[in-house]
Amino acid sequence: MVTKKQIIDRARNESRTLLTEVESKDLLRQAGINVTDTRLATSKEEAVSVSRKLGFPIVLKVASPDIVHKSDAGGVKLGLKTSKQVGKAYDDILKAVSQKYPRAAVHGVSVQRMARPGVEVIIGMSRDAQFGPVLMFGLGGIMVELLKDVSFRIVPLTGWDAHEMVREIKGYPLLEGYRGQEPVDVSALEELLVKVSAFIEHAPEIKELDLNPVLARSDGVVAVDARAVLEESDW
Ligand code: ADP
Ligand code: MG
Repeated sequence: MVTKKQIIDRARNESRTLLTEVESKDLLRQAGINVTDTRLATSKEEAVSVSRKLGFPIVLKVASPDIVHKSDAGGVKLGLKTSKQVGKAYDDILKAVSQKYPRAAVHGVSVQRMARPGVEVIIGMSRDAQFGPVLMFGLGGIMVELLKDVSFRIVPLTGWDAHEMVREIKGYPLLEGYRGQEPVDVSALEELLVKVSAFIEHAPEIKELDLNPVLARSDGVVAVDARAVLEESDW
């Protein structure tokens, strides 16, 4: 397994601050945070063989330290059911990305299983000049983007902070099982917030972090996308 130091050193040697999804998830997994098992494939053949190992349905995404929004770049293909679909998705992703971002460095494509559906939530960290690291929590999609329905706490979070943070958002009823939907495991979500806080406390090199989305279900929580940005200072 690649260590935290190796991941950060590699990025710094390449003079970049954005860690890829695969790198960001490796760091989070090492901190005991549940992320989808995500592997880097550097060829179409490898993408297919990794998919067979992980099991279908599969998700492929562009792996590039120059691309922040993978979907916008045509770089995400969901629900791939066969080796043939994976092979085609691999070609389609590289083609779309090379058209939209011809100068982007591309490490390859990330391969992971399609997670079962859940309520999409977001956990974000940014550093405030006065308060230091601050965690944000909200529901995914338009709830955050349009309605700004989010809560904040200063790191380090206590269990009680996490308990309150989850309940403060207006969309909380969606987590409790709105209109016959299955309720999500809210305590797993609270534990996740505390784990992310603990991770941040021991990662001064990280300037920003996003787990977007985390899928929350009745049987637990899993981050299917992650993005870390490194501090530029003390290089
Ligand atoms: P980006 O945010 O860079 O556009 P994401 O990795 O978040 O790319 O993928 C876009 C969307 O695809 C996610 O918001 C989520 O809805 C879905 N998605 C991504 N990975 C998975 C996965 N492993 N299982 C299920 N859905 C996924
Ligand atoms: Mg995302």
